[in-house]
Amino acid sequence: MSVQWRNEVEKQYDTYLEKVKEFLSIPSVHDETSVKDGAPFGQPVADALEYILNYCEEIGFTTHNVGGYAAHAEYGTGEEIIGVLCHVDVVPAGDGWTWDPFKPELRDGKLYARGAIDDKGPTMAAVFALKIIKELGLPLRRRVRIIFGTDEESGDWVGLRRYFAEQPMPLMGFAPDAEFPIITAEKGILICHLVQDVGTLSAQRESGWTLASFQAGNRENMVADKAEAVLTGDGDVFAVKEQFQSYLMKRRIRGYAEEQNDGVRLVLEGISHHGMEPHKGLNAGLELARFLHALDLDERGRQLIRLIHDYFVDSFFGEKLGIDIEDDINGKLTVNVGTFSYVQDGQAKLGVNIRYPVKAGTSEIMGKLKAAAQAFGYTVAPNVIDQKPHYVKHDHELVKTLQRVYEAHTGEEATLLAIGGGTYGRALDTGVAFGPLFPGEEETAHQKDEYFNVENMKRAMAIYAEAIYELAK
Ligand SMILES: [Zn+2]
Repeated sequence: MSVQWRNEVEKQYDTYLEKVKEFLSIPSVHDETSVKDGAPFGQPVADALEYILNYCEEIGFTTHNVGGYAAHAEYGTGEEIIGVLCHVDVVPAGDGWTWDPFKPELRDGKLYARGAIDDKGPTMAAVFALKIIKELGLPLRRRVRIIFGTDEESGDWVGLRRYFAEQPMPLMGFAPDAEFPIITAEKGILICHLVQDVGTLSAQRESGWTLASFQAGNRENMVADKAEAVLTGDGDVFAVKEQFQSYLMKRRIRGYAEEQNDGVRLVLEGISHHGMEPHKGLNAGLELARFLHALDLDERGRQLIRLIHDYFVDSFFGEKLGIDIEDDINGKLTVNVGTFSYVQDGQAKLGVNIRYPVKAGTSEIMGKLKAAAQAFGYTVAPNVIDQKPHYVKHDHELVKTLQRVYEAHTGEEATLLAIGGGTYGRALDTGVAFGPLFPGEEETAHQKDEYFNVENMKRAMAIYAEAIYELAK
């Protein structure tokens, strides 16, 4: 039978808007203070989960809640399951909003609220997509599960792991939590720390400069946007200030140097960017280390600066480490040093985030990192996080079906995207990210005045409805 998907969406849209506004009014930010049994990420997240599950039951889906860690709504019959993976939690509102982030505001064809595009708008669109299929009475030979995650933003996806420990992995599926057309490949993500405990080298020198402290960045997966170092000792303060100013000017970087009681403090401003594209930001920590490399420092301070300089400065694709690996599926490996922390009498620690293609092996990367660390008296801390690369083959039924549907609705070619990684699609064994943002649309996720475009969300809902139907029929 031929279904006019856009017409069906039009019929549902007023109800969709009413429901999504209620859903968006729940400030479902991770809240440690209200954690309890059944609400492992706090009450507001649990409230949002309960809201969507109640609505799904009201419209005739069966639901199952795995202790508040994640839940699903199901429709259809059959052994196999098609999964649509969404999340009900949101990042904190932050400052600078034009409207109350938790009182959805519809204006000029845009619905503004925290979570509008990431991910409550598309989550509710997926629910309505399945509602359309149900109300049309379309027969399905596979069950469809809309799975609601609860800690996509705040954690390590613990909630989903608890869910899948109990519930079967869908045969295949998609996550409406990134962009169209289709993200089929995501790099592996390796997060580790190079550390050196305070050693015998930390004694103050007799003369010259000692690196008293060096700090930059807060998160391994972000480009450090601010760095600060303090030098103490009896070096020439005036000369260092001069040198630093001319270095900043030459490299067109913002920063300053100021004299302190027994030395000088250097501050340098970089440009923040996501750590999966380290070359697109300006890493303040690396830039400050580049400057310090030209100074005569105490031995322990010098070890740190040489480690950074010899292996990470001007080496965003792992060139200096000898891990500049690239393949056709994921593209180039990237290296981001996101956190730098050093005090003369305490621990030294660098937080490194490496995004690697399928072709690169973790053991090779770790081997090179360990060798680099050892060269300067550092070790790789044992708390290594390693998420394997994720991809779905281009000729897989999932990819072919989504491509066909996307092209029919948009008239555009459904190109397949490979990214640095981190979408919810990788939480499914055979999963891709599919929308909701269309090519060229403004990205407002995690920002002030987050919104979704009403016309585009209609289009996405129609695509989701037909895609779910085609995968499950
Ligand atoms: Zn999201």
